[in-house]
Amino acid sequence: MREDGSKSIAPTIQDVWAARRRIASVVVRTPLLASSALRAAVGADVLLKHEEMQEIGAFKVRGAANKLLHLAEIGPLPGVVAFSTGNHGMGVAHVARLLGIPARVCLPDSVPQAKLDGLHRLGATIERSGPTQEDAASRAQRWEHEHGLVLVDPLDDPDVIAGQGTIGLELLESDPEIDAVLVPLSGGGLLSGVALAVKANSPRTRVIGVSAQGARAMYESVRAGRPVDFAESPTLADSLRGGIGMENRHTLRLVRELVDDIVLVSEREIEEAMLFLLRHEHLVVEGAAAVGVAALLAGRIGACARPAVLITGRNVASDVLLRLSAMI
Ligand SMILES: *Cc1c(COP(=O)(O)O)cnc(C)c1O
Repeated sequence: MREDGSKSIAPTIQDVWAARRRIASVVVRTPLLASSALRAAVGADVLLKHEEMQEIGAFKVRGAANKLLHLAEIGPLPGVVAFSTGNHGMGVAHVARLLGIPARVCLPDSVPQAKLDGLHRLGATIERSGPTQEDAASRAQRWEHEHGLVLVDPLDDPDVIAGQGTIGLELLESDPEIDAVLVPLSGGGLLSGVALAVKANSPRTRVIGVSAQGARAMYESVRAGRPVDFAESPTLADSLRGGIGMENRHTLRLVRELVDDIVLVSEREIEEAMLFLLRHEHLVVEGAAAVGVAALLAGRIGACARPAVLITGRNVASDVLLRLSAMI
């Protein structure tokens, strides 16, 4: 799984700078915009980083692009394989298509048709691999070992972390006065990368991870000081589901070293935040992307004057969107 030696070395701020040069032509430099509705609601100059504006509707294209472009610099790339149902799979498929290499995505049998359609549109070959996520993972590993495809880890990979970290560089360039950054947190690839970039350039800016209570594997792992397998419950923040990997090599350490705090939000708070953004900003975001706003609205963040909140994606299921729209 770790064929290029560099992967055993943790990512550094230099890797984030290298990532930024590498992926510049593939990713959108997203705007950081003030939200007057949030300013009125929480009494701080809240800025939203609009990663939902990436072509695939989520920031994950950054890490995928850095990983695949880096590998393409090193040698020929026969093809890639991933086992994510969500935004990571789309990011990998999108970048593979740009590079003209085949992408295969292994998925559990139960994946909803809407997600399959999205991946089809991006030109990926989809393989239903059995009832569980583990079946999909082991199928993807077989493609890697038996056919030489490159398996792209969604979070615990230095290139992926550095790619996501480019968001942190953009944040401080757009606004050096930011005093807190709120980052949706699942496996921590995003939070690690953003913390690396922000702390290297502005050590006093607080970096805070926000997880759904029902999907808090990193929160529990930080508390335990080792990877913990957390039993999840259903959450609107479906993109935040999944563990940190019991063999975690990078994100747990980086989060422990660099991140100031991790806070949790409830399902009710996530729903209210989605509704708030829909109502006041006419902004459609997925549950995972609303957790930062949820934490602010719920008063979990403590004093800050100019917080930046990462809006990480807009790939919300249409039934959820319909239900929320009816509540406006
Ligand atoms: C993947 C994802 C996250 C969390 O990223 P991690 O690196 O796994 O912590 C947050 N929001 C959205 C929309 C995502 O797709």
